[in-house]
Amino acid sequence: MVVDAHFDLAAEVYERRLAGERHVVERRYLPHFREASVNLIVSSIYVPGRELPESGLRRALGQTAALREDLESVQDQICVADSREALERAAAGGQTAVLLSLEGLDPLGNDLSLLRAFYDLGVRGAGLTWSRRNAFATGCCKAGEFREIPGGLTDLGREAVARMEELGMYVDVSHLNNEGFADLCACAKRPFIASHSNAWKIHPNYRNLRDDQIEAVAGRGGVIGLNACALLAGPSVPESQAASPQEEKLEQLCRHAEYLVSKAGSAHVGCGFDLCRGLSDATPRIRFETENDDILAHHGEMIKFTAMLLARGMKEETAAGLIGGNFFRFFRECLPCSEQ
Ligand SMILES: [Zn+2]
Repeated sequence: MVVDAHFDLAAEVYERRLAGERHVVERRYLPHFREASVNLIVSSIYVPGRELPESGLRRALGQTAALREDLESVQDQICVADSREALERAAAGGQTAVLLSLEGLDPLGNDLSLLRAFYDLGVRGAGLTWSRRNAFATGCCKAGEFREIPGGLTDLGREAVARMEELGMYVDVSHLNNEGFADLCACAKRPFIASHSNAWKIHPNYRNLRDDQIEAVAGRGGVIGLNACALLAGPSVPESQAASPQEEKLEQLCRHAEYLVSKAGSAHVGCGFDLCRGLSDATPRIRFETENDDILAHHGEMIKFTAMLLARGMKEETAAGLIGGNFFRFFRECLPCSEQ
């Protein structure tokens, strides 16, 4: 299985279709998904700060609609999966499945009843917040910053966790600050994930996870997705024997992978590469969080990353779980059976 647990696909498709482009996924992404035999992509629904609060709901609904419309002509190759059966069918038929997830509950404003509306639109996961404060929680800083921001989950945030668990949506802790992480641990009853965060020990950044947080995600049955943003991976080591600047960065990503596996165990690490070049190019007026800093040029390069993990001595079984098996297992278990 090959899985990327965090990709701003819907946001990019929305922007490009607004500008008149069509068949965005088919032309820009499908060839790369095919190249690496990608089974599952989690598309985040991400609303930029300047749209909030007034346009948050409209923008989130627009992204969901734009992505579904864009995929209509290529349903035989890539489709939204909102049930366990749909995910299994896609995997058996060699299609790429797309799972929808909210990157922050900002589109809800402070009306938790809207969560059900997003569930009915096929959204199956959410982070409480992006790197900002909203009615539910306070986010940590952006990838390019280094500062601890206080304030954890609000009462509404705790209610949101309970409601998500009741609906069968997974909680994503990437972007939550340290207090929020601790608050979530105190109230969550089901496993949760960190879809796109690296290890603090390898590179200290408030977007990355400390050892106790890594252990908490793994101990509860969740999965941590490696982030291929160079700002979160951190500078590569000077003694590196890498042949190119990209290889140096890939080596650094491998260090995070190896460290996370050592702390979380091989069944609890995956990929959430957060490749941002496409969205950043589609919206040049936004100074984007990751400033176009992708270590992988596209999903086809997941092959290169896997090869490097193996060359550095990772066991085949561990690499297979990391490149997709672990997240596939988590999402399959989390998705509702369609008869429900
Ligand atoms: Zn993010």
